[in-house]
Amino acid sequence: MAELERLKMYIGGQWVEPCSGAYFETVDPFTARPWALVPRGNAEDADRAVRAAHAAFKGPWRTMHPSKRAKILHRFASLIEDHALALAEIEVRDNGRLLAEMHHQIAYIPNWYHYYAGLADKIEGVVHPCDKPALSYSRHEPLGVCVGIVPWNAPLLLFSLKAAPALAAGNTLVMKPAEHTSATALKLMELVEKAGFPEGVVNVVTGYGREVGEPLVTHPLTRHVGFTGSTATGAHLYSLAARDVKRVSLELGGKSPNIVFDDAAIDDAVRGVVGGIFGATGQTCIAGSRLLVQRKIHDQFVDKLSAFTASARVGDPRKRETQIGPIANQMQYDKVLGYIDIARQEGAELVLGGGRPDLEETSQGYFISPTIFTGVNNTMRIAREEVFGPVLSTIVFDEVEEAVDIANDSEFGLAAGVWTSDMKRALRMSDLLEAGSVWINTYRDISYTTPFGGYKKSGIGRENGVEGIREYLQTKAVWISTADEIKNPFVIG
Ligand code: ADP
Repeated sequence: MAELERLKMYIGGQWVEPCSGAYFETVDPFTARPWALVPRGNAEDADRAVRAAHAAFKGPWRTMHPSKRAKILHRFASLIEDHALALAEIEVRDNGRLLAEMHHQIAYIPNWYHYYAGLADKIEGVVHPCDKPALSYSRHEPLGVCVGIVPWNAPLLLFSLKAAPALAAGNTLVMKPAEHTSATALKLMELVEKAGFPEGVVNVVTGYGREVGEPLVTHPLTRHVGFTGSTATGAHLYSLAARDVKRVSLELGGKSPNIVFDDAAIDDAVRGVVGGIFGATGQTCIAGSRLLVQRKIHDQFVDKLSAFTASARVGDPRKRETQIGPIANQMQYDKVLGYIDIARQEGAELVLGGGRPDLEETSQGYFISPTIFTGVNNTMRIAREEVFGPVLSTIVFDEVEEAVDIANDSEFGLAAGVWTSDMKRALRMSDLLEAGSVWINTYRDISYTTPFGGYKKSGIGRENGVEGIREYLQTKAVWISTADEIKNPFVIG
């Protein structure tokens, strides 16, 4: 077998090998075979990267006029557009996402850089109507070195949600992609070089969370930790950051309800529910993994949903006609199968899927058929814990209040969907649902313009929109005395 390509990390504008000299394999989930070797970074690499980012912050980046920073960001966005196909193909190989979906996603990702580049030179302070003999005004300043830790399910998109606002605000960055999917973040660094970022402004270190992620978080020069991933890891990093009172933004897990009322446009709702849970093979934090259906239409809805889902083409993510690809890695594959067993043991009724598809094309990779359970009640583990795979739990309800109670009876609060033709009901639901995003007659919409984040254990802070850049800024008040004299220095007033 040909030797696997060894990837390199990108630190201080240089392509470097890991201090440990160690590498690990990254696997194509369609074939379950390794295709490249990823540097196994450690605390020493983390230190190198944070120091490089700190030097770049103190040096060119913080002092560069925001309009000039914006130009570099716009250039970077255009380079992503130019290299869209190459990036899409690497992400498909590393993560198993559909090529068809990646084409759309990579065409959309540059918007984050264009949007925040546009905001970079519009960050204005205010002059306060001060009651003292002074001119007092505020400035919004960058924080310094920001660490971004991202998961494996949407590597490039989630990288960009953090990188674009952090850089536009004048911070420098150390990014750590997930160990299963490091390749596209490294490929992106070739474009960082071309775009003309000063060295050290953007760095990527790779490796395992405990070995290289934690040292990034606890490094004394790190000022902000932006994390997307599981609630357990997020809570752990939050506690580490708290020791040094570092700022964090955490985008964590979900168990989002998708609620279908009996007056919904049924065919639209079926598509919305399918997209919500089987899009990206269910591996999204916003997956609509709890389907709440009003009793009157329950049986009819489940029949239509099952028929539509059964017709979805599972297979090679590179083929245009494929609609459901593999699970992104072996660990997650085992976990999802484990949850299917749990649901069965808990007494949920399996109406579709429930294991590997019986197809030649999917025989090697980490495939799980789209799976639908009915007869779930909200106390079961399958209704409470995040599966992060193509497994839908169907719960029946009678009244509006009951739907709200079930929907909100979760430790998570990332998103919720409501399907109804009654706009009054829709607006009332949007009021009552405890979730950072509520979608009415749609699901899984995300935009660079619109704040995104979680209630409850789904996270802290918001990404996207104007609110997204505030996470990466701090406010300084400046006082300039206009008094004729300094009066009694021992009395403040
Ligand atoms: P998953 O999304 O697979 O459930 P995590 O939430 O643990 O996993 O992983 C998301 C990201 O967090 C990955 O980049 C992973 O390497 C990183 N990570 C995991 N554990 C830690 C840790 N202890 N410290 C820092 N980063 C971590």
